[in-house]
Amino acid sequence: MRGFKISVLSGKGGTGKTTVSVNLAKVLNNSVYVDCDVEEPNGYLFLNPQIEEEKTVEVIIPEINSDKCTLCGECVKACRFSALTKLIKKILVFDHLCHSCGACFEMCPYDTIIEKYKPIGTIRKGKAQSVDFIDGKLNYGEATGVPILKEINKLIENVDKPVIVDSPPGTSCPVIHSIEGSDLCILVTEPTPYGLHDFDLAVQLVKQRGIPMAAVINKAGEGDNIIEEYCEKEGIKVLAKIPFKKEFAEAYSKGKLLIEVDNEVREIFDKLSTDALELIKK
Ligand code: SF4
Ligand code: SF4
Repeated sequence: MRGFKISVLSGKGGTGKTTVSVNLAKVLNNSVYVDCDVEEPNGYLFLNPQIEEEKTVEVIIPEINSDKCTLCGECVKACRFSALTKLIKKILVFDHLCHSCGACFEMCPYDTIIEKYKPIGTIRKGKAQSVDFIDGKLNYGEATGVPILKEINKLIENVDKPVIVDSPPGTSCPVIHSIEGSDLCILVTEPTPYGLHDFDLAVQLVKQRGIPMAAVINKAGEGDNIIEEYCEKEGIKVLAKIPFKKEFAEAYSKGKLLIEVDNEVREIFDKLSTDALELIKK
């Protein structure tokens, strides 16, 4: 099967994004599952990969050479993230606020700032039977996971297999980095007014980037109309409806894949993968 990238996202966490991602990766077979939810990666709990490689991701942060610093304050003015403060005798660096944007290095007129490497997280690679596995994890308290997502994007750039990206929740900067270069975005939502609100935010984000998209309704039931009417209006195909069953919550809590515990869900995911491929071919 040729390479393509499907990103699975939702306006907020807890909607079923990881459920859809891991089950889809498994159904596609010979695929790559990539967990980009770097603040709380949990795809490994369902895929149980054998980790073969672990790499530390580092960023460059500033260290001020106090002997040369004139306390001119140019670096403080340049920092958009309030990571630098001028005290009476020194410039203080709050490295957990630093986004490694490089502005202070550029702005220092006296070449006084030294590059210091700081680990912010890890990337793991492994194998979960027929599925290649990659996940990223941001160290607790770090400002942003974007450098980890950039590294992950390099790893999957030229992969000749279907790549399923489990995106971070929400609609902020890390989501934008995770969906970059996608052939299709699958937006997972629940059929409630709150679900629709977050779904709408995700739809607008994907639309702005001009990426084809489709929807999956999780915990489908009586309120489905609210999503289906919206999708019809927006011209978004509903690829699948995953029913709500009490056993699914139990399976989830035990780290089991839904396709392995329920035949109906297996069929839903088989069809979901076929229909997603059709959309990509168009
Ligand atoms: S690298 Fe950017 S974010 Fe970090 S301290 Fe310098 S200006 Fe601020
Ligand atoms: S810009 Fe350079 S010289 Fe000026 S306060 Fe910052 S580190 Fe010191």
